[in-house]
Amino acid sequence: MVLRKRSLYLGVLVSLSLLVAGCSGQQATAKTATARQSSVAKKTTNRQRLIRQLPKGVKSTDADLIVVNKWHRHGELSFKKVQVDGITVRQSIQKPLTAFINGAEKAGYQTSAVSGYRSVADQKRVWNQSIATYKEQGKSAKQALKLTREYVAVPGGSEHQTGLAADIINTKWFTSHGNQLLSASDQSKGQRWLINHAAQYGFVLRFPKNGVRSTGIDYESWHFRYVGRASAEFMTKHHLTLEQYVSLLKARES
Ligand SMILES: [Zn+2]
Repeated sequence: MVLRKRSLYLGVLVSLSLLVAGCSGQQATAKTATARQSSVAKKTTNRQRLIRQLPKGVKSTDADLIVVNKWHRHGELSFKKVQVDGITVRQSIQKPLTAFINGAEKAGYQTSAVSGYRSVADQKRVWNQSIATYKEQGKSAKQALKLTREYVAVPGGSEHQTGLAADIINTKWFTSHGNQLLSASDQSKGQRWLINHAAQYGFVLRFPKNGVRSTGIDYESWHFRYVGRASAEFMTKHHLTLEQYVSLLKARES
């Protein structure tokens, strides 16, 4: 909506400046159309260039690249689980996650693993509890559902059910901010270390600031997702969300 308004505004500006310069309306329309075509062509070229550069041997169907979000919900997934630093994760990420946490510690930043695997059943419980709490506060059923949708992942739509996601936060920042997961934690050096080095260990910051439209989730400076090193480095370099990355892989495979 905002974009449409802005392009309308720009269109008016272009027309006005062309009128002032003595150009005819017809020329203005032709110029605007050419500008639009070249912008579409540029986007297409960028996408094709990215597709050509995608890491070799990676497929959209790889287990590490499963996409779970509010548009792609899943039932309970089955995999081996282990404990790392007090949280449960998929066994396949035990080594990289341990290395990631140890790497931060070696750099002088102690981290806290706050949340890992969460079953669909757990998500349902959190969802129902949220609705019940809002109703107790006097909200209508409709309001309670609306508020819950804003703050709680739809059951079956949380990345935490993959066992490939972990909420990791700098301990010093976390404990001095009431043990809360807040996006402002990226102001701490320790959290920035995690964000800047995640790809080396095969992780990405899953909900980046510039990815809200494709992920459906607001910026989270603590939620890391394992995707494998080649994919993590590519996604980080090109500022791609998992949704965008998998879409490029699918295009290469089609
Ligand atoms: Zn999370």
